[in-house]
Amino acid sequence: MELKDIKGIGEKRAQTLARQGIHTPSDLLGRLPERYVQRRLTDLEEAKAGETVHLPGRVTSEPKVFFIRRKLSRLTFRAEVEGETLSVSVFNQHYLKQTLYKGVSIVLHGRLSAHNMGFTAQKVFLRDNFREGILPVYNVEGVRDATFAKLAREAFILLSDSLCDRLPEPLRKRYRLIDKKTLLEWAHAPSSSRALHQVRRRLKYEEFLDYQLKVRLLRQRHMEAEGSAKPFSKETLGAFESTLPFSLTASQKQALEEILADLASRTAMRRMLQGDTGSGKTVVAMMSAFAALDAYHQVAFLAPTEILARQHFKTAQALFASTPHALALLTSTTPKEEREAIERGLAEGSIHLVIGTHVLFSRSTRYHQLGFVITDEQHRFGVLQRGALSRKGEKPDVLYLSATPIPRTLAMTLFGDMDITTIDEMPNSTKPVATTILAEKDAARVHEFIEATLRKGQQVYVISPTIDGGKENKKSIVDIEKSLRRSHPEARVGLLHGRRPPEEKERVMEDFHEGRLDILVATTIVEVGMDVPKATLIVVHHAERLGLAQLHQLRGRVGRRDLPGRAVFLYEGDEEVRERLAFLQKSADGFAISEYDMQRRGFGDFMGTFQSGRLRFVHADVEEDLHIMKIARDDAETILVDRGRESSYADYVAAIEKELEEIADYSL
Ligand code: ADP
Ligand code: MG
Repeated sequence: MELKDIKGIGEKRAQTLARQGIHTPSDLLGRLPERYVQRRLTDLEEAKAGETVHLPGRVTSEPKVFFIRRKLSRLTFRAEVEGETLSVSVFNQHYLKQTLYKGVSIVLHGRLSAHNMGFTAQKVFLRDNFREGILPVYNVEGVRDATFAKLAREAFILLSDSLCDRLPEPLRKRYRLIDKKTLLEWAHAPSSSRALHQVRRRLKYEEFLDYQLKVRLLRQRHMEAEGSAKPFSKETLGAFESTLPFSLTASQKQALEEILADLASRTAMRRMLQGDTGSGKTVVAMMSAFAALDAYHQVAFLAPTEILARQHFKTAQALFASTPHALALLTSTTPKEEREAIERGLAEGSIHLVIGTHVLFSRSTRYHQLGFVITDEQHRFGVLQRGALSRKGEKPDVLYLSATPIPRTLAMTLFGDMDITTIDEMPNSTKPVATTILAEKDAARVHEFIEATLRKGQQVYVISPTIDGGKENKKSIVDIEKSLRRSHPEARVGLLHGRRPPEEKERVMEDFHEGRLDILVATTIVEVGMDVPKATLIVVHHAERLGLAQLHQLRGRVGRRDLPGRAVFLYEGDEEVRERLAFLQKSADGFAISEYDMQRRGFGDFMGTFQSGRLRFVHADVEEDLHIMKIARDDAETILVDRGRESSYADYVAAIEKELEEIADYSL
């Protein structure tokens, strides 16, 4: 069937739709609304200032148009609404002049201001064109939402008899979910909020169930995939371990054992190594890299930023100094000639361990025998990029390092396709960071801390979540920088935030790292892995706005070596806010901290960290709908176990498997 079989679609519209990936009636029907708006007429008496309203009324003066400047016009008229006269302004819709005239009935849409004699309308509907109810919003370019809904309706009529529902009936029955046909009918034209609720329930459940099944199928496939065993010498590794300036903690040893077992076996590794900052993940990763190198495989170590790549490279240079392995650093700032030489070395196999940023998997990079990929702070990379890198090897072992502490059960739910290893012990050398909690109004006391730190020749981070305060009147890093320059004129102060160009960011970080700056004023951008030995004080403004797990990561930036570190968290808010923050004084255990914060605030805070990664759901919200995710996880397991007995399960699994084939990047 073609799009043009649908009433209302001609050549031109078919082209418009095709440009947005809609080629068939079934594509059209499957394009569900992105969201819905509730539209009903407002009673002016009940409406409050600030509310978005739809006011029915009548035009009582001839509309006038003013062109204020290019691209800014204003149309004004008076309207009578429930006996009151409003003077209405509409911006940049001067064409309304053609349809609005004195006496015509209209509906005004906009936000009610405090002085309700003036009204700025975002939209003006002719009364006859205004529909009340729940309206779908599609955001399909070139087709109005109401039109799209109508077309979807036509498509539904055309297809409704041939729709099949892949969600197995036993599950639909168990949770009383609407069937596919009802879903498609209601989603495009929900008759009530109850109907919409049913639509959402089904969409969320199905989205999670699909996800859980995919995760499990990938894992199965991965278990079956033959990687290459890496027969490293235990003796050589032991000798390497003895060159470390410290002995591994029991927890590090355990983690290393698990990783080495994966390396030695033929099954390809897919493991996440999680542990607090400073728990010694990097050392463990380097030791496993050594094992793979010893078995004549190449290793790629991927870092999320240039500065971290450089940091890891330095660590590796020191660790591998007395080994025969050739190292290279490859980032986007590597000069062209050097880069070409490194790429040649990688392709020939004369470079064994390469550390770098995403350029490690750019098109031009080829490997000789890439057997092991280590990715630091894996959530910074999308699935796609990770896929691209691991495809460069045969079936490389993949190890993800993560300092975002996720409680184990949750990690299993979200990353069911990975094995998880946790380092839950800190090396003795790391002392807990002394933590002070202060109300923002006592911020003056911070200067004593800063003064004392600078006097010792040590460095300071000052953090705030806002870049420029704007109308919110919050302490922004721009303001903070200014006031620090005044209060500490002798100090060298740098400013770092995400809106600065990448080269500038790198330069500021580098300057701070090398001790050319005394104070670094920054947004939470510094939370990932920066390791500046002489930074011993971190001050965080508006700590109330950040999750405890994030604050804990931030304070992990100081006291990295033998110098004791201090964190000062400034907050605005009441006793409850203070109490929450005070947990950071009680505990230095990232997992305990994030569990506590989850209980108090839900886990949205550190979920934010994953948004850039794999977990983007269209209909469901990982935080709000976690209970559904858990049900879906259990059901996915049941489906895989029972698919031999229940044919609807088998069909469903087959459909999901087919989808997986199409997303090549999913298969590492
Ligand atoms: P992570 O990567 O988990 O943040 P690192 O591996 O960077 O942690 O370790 C943090 C610091 O602790 C480094 O300076 C490292 O040399 C040191 N370190 C790691 N393991 C130990 C240990 N077992 N004993 C003492 N110091 C250690
Ligand atoms: Mg690290």
